Amino acid sequence: MTRDYENFLSKFKKNDYIFKFFHQKIFKKRNIILRHDVDFDTDYALNIAKIEKKLKIKSTFFFLIRSKSYNILDPEEIKRINNIKSMGHEISIHFDPSIYNKKNMLEGLRQEKKLFESLFKKKIKVISFHRPNQKFVNLNTKILGLNHTYQDMFKKHITYFADSRNTFRYGNPLKSIEFKNKLSLQISLHPIWWQNKFYKNINWKIKKYIAKKNSHLKSNLKKNLNKSKLNLK
Ligand SMILES: [Zn+2]
Repeated sequence: MTRDYENFLSKFKKNDYIFKFFHQKIFKKRNIILRHDVDFDTDYALNIAKIEKKLKIKSTFFFLIRSKSYNILDPEEIKRINNIKSMGHEISIHFDPSIYNKKNMLEGLRQEKKLFESLFKKKIKVISFHRPNQKFVNLNTKILGLNHTYQDMFKKHITYFADSRNTFRYGNPLKSIEFKNKLSLQISLHPIWWQNKFYKNINWKIKKYIAKKNSHLKSNLKKNLNKSKLNLK
């Protein structure tokens, strides 16, 4: 694995930043909340969790419950998420409001919360929204008694950066005036973009991901079907 991720994070440590969780007291200066929305793969999440552990950095990982990319009930996925938790990172729900309608959205969140908490023996404190519309991006209140990562205290009172779609669309935090002045930050990094060199383009990264999923699917098929009749080359 590339050292890009390690190098990126080390710069914050060198600039005297202290890594905090969402539920902790956030000061105006030198605090950083590092967040990961796990949209694609728990392996990728585990990889970056290990790098953070090596650097003695703590972050918060948010997982989709009703994803088409991974199955949170799969024992292997559960093991990986528990592994991330055991390293001292926070774990919670990456909630996708778009799969619900107005009437059942809160009930959906209640169910997802219940499932996650019982699977991982973990009380959820803060959630993050998956691909939220403007209504959720601008929501400044709790939802179902839970804080969320788009509240003003995490997005306006401190400066927010994200690596959405493989680029720092709102600027690279390391090149920002806020970083220079050691002001507090929330940074959202998606594990998929940091598995190799960060400058590699999005198509290259997505192809790698598809190849990984394909090989996993093939080995699963081999396990479940009669190998002698299979020709998957
Ligand atoms: Zn997402």
